[in-house]
Amino acid sequence: MTGKRLRAELVVIGGGGAGLAAALAAAESGCKSIIVLEKTGAAAGSTAMAHDVFGAESPVQKRQGIDAPKDELFKVAMEWAHWTKINPRIVRAFIDKSGDTIGWLEKMGLSFELIQYYPNQVPLVRHSVKGHGNALMKALRDSCEKKGVKILTFTPGKNILRDEKGKISGVVAESKQGEISIAAQGVIVATGGYGNNEEMLKKHLANYHDTMTYDGPPSNTGDGIRMAADIGAAMAGLGTANLHGPFIRPKSDSHAMKMDAKGLDGSLIRITLWFLAWEPEMIWVNKHGKRFIDEGYQLAFFAFGNAVALQPDGITYTLFDQTTLNKIEREGLIRPGAAAHANWLPVSAATPLPGLEREVRKQADKGELKISNSWDEIAAWMGAAPDVLNATIDEYNAACDDRHDGLFAKDRRYLRSLRTPPFYAVKGHLGLCDTYGGIKINEHMEALDARDNPIPGLYAAGTTAGCWESESYCYRLTGHLVGFALNSGRIAGENAVRYLSK
Ligand SMILES: Cc1cc2nc3c(=O)[nH]c(=O)nc-3n(C[C@H](O)[C@H](O)[C@H](O)COP(=O)(O)OP(=O)(O)OC[C@H]3O[C@@H](n4cnc5c(N)ncnc54)[C@H](O)[C@@H]3O)c2cc1C
Repeated sequence: MTGKRLRAELVVIGGGGAGLAAALAAAESGCKSIIVLEKTGAAAGSTAMAHDVFGAESPVQKRQGIDAPKDELFKVAMEWAHWTKINPRIVRAFIDKSGDTIGWLEKMGLSFELIQYYPNQVPLVRHSVKGHGNALMKALRDSCEKKGVKILTFTPGKNILRDEKGKISGVVAESKQGEISIAAQGVIVATGGYGNNEEMLKKHLANYHDTMTYDGPPSNTGDGIRMAADIGAAMAGLGTANLHGPFIRPKSDSHAMKMDAKGLDGSLIRITLWFLAWEPEMIWVNKHGKRFIDEGYQLAFFAFGNAVALQPDGITYTLFDQTTLNKIEREGLIRPGAAAHANWLPVSAATPLPGLEREVRKQADKGELKISNSWDEIAAWMGAAPDVLNATIDEYNAACDDRHDGLFAKDRRYLRSLRTPPFYAVKGHLGLCDTYGGIKINEHMEALDARDNPIPGLYAAGTTAGCWESESYCYRLTGHLVGFALNSGRIAGENAVRYLSK
């Protein structure tokens, strides 16, 4: 083998939430020589773009008298999954550790606020990090540094090596200076999802649409999944994704929420149309002009992505009239507050939005918004049959008059007719927050082979691993993607050290 040669006890591939939690936990468990390989210029990942961490029986909850029992939350997760597609032992291990992990992060100087994600959420499990994911990752980086963990940036892992006995023997990586071979008996794969790998998305996501946009870092291309598969790791849970929508951001702006040392750049989000597209008082139709959901369902950001995914081309249109726009300008939006996102997004609920109409009109004719006095013209813009769209509007207006939505039983508080021109149509599409699934693991985060035997020395954590989430994001355990990344990382790090010290 050519190039530079290094040696370490443990190599962690991927410096996101799972990777740094794993490295730090391994260092705390006594491992003296740890190298983290990070593909980009900063150990951050999608974790740095996030804001909330799930926790059960955490010190924060206990201090506030919030009863969030691990047993109950385990049952929530398993009922959500119908005991299928996920390994209950992994879920249990993650939930059992989650409260302790919040305390672990507090000791690093982080602080949390418990907030709800959907109306009247009980118990509160969403630990919103002060300073968001960026502060979280900084705390992990600083703690890793103090413990002597070496983080090599711009150094993507390329291949994992096994010796003739099948044990892990090292990693091959690439740096700007060329190839690096690192001899190591333990490897933890934590390279995140494959949201920026079109080929994998097409292969694994049942409702893939090329109109879909991805929110996470461009570096997440499923590398670890490929590396582990190449050395005989079994695959599990591929095809599960955290979907949302209707979402407004053209494909060309994908990765617009670029993450760097400063964190999320929210200024690039087209806030105005985005929020209007989600409002429960609007109607949402597909490209044929037919309603497809109770628009007031759950008032939770991730509750309706699956329904959007089922629509032709993953495209939606949100329709409203001038009266509703005037009301929102006067009284504000409903959805942001109900979803308790106001701490993150720069639009609060129930806050008048003077000048909203002017801002909305500025977006006309840019491809995402049509304003017209005629539903026929809007139907032509959408590519829908005018009689179908008109029938939808008539049926909905009649439902508003009756105060009863006979189709989807929408909450009557959100029934507002569409009768006052001009009429507005906002084009939306499917958003992808992250994928999960890939490397098959057990509750010790050991990577398994085709016979479910652990591959000696190989571990996986975070979204690169599979079988801890069923078909869709279990938003009752709010924040559990970062939660799983951190907790599975810690468990992997601790178990890798146990293996190495044998
Ligand atoms: C905008 C946004 C907001 C979110 N908000 C939340 C939230 O509030 N709560 C929540 O629970 N979840 C949230 N999520 C999802 C959550 O952030 C992720 O699912 C989770 O953080 C994944 O953690 P991870 O460690 O597995 O992956 P990541 O944190 O993405 O880390 C993977 C790392 O591996 C690196 N990498 C990739 N390939 C290689 C390679 N070959 N060699 C070396 N390194 C490599 C990447 O560069 C990256 O740094 C959000 C996601 C996004 C995009």
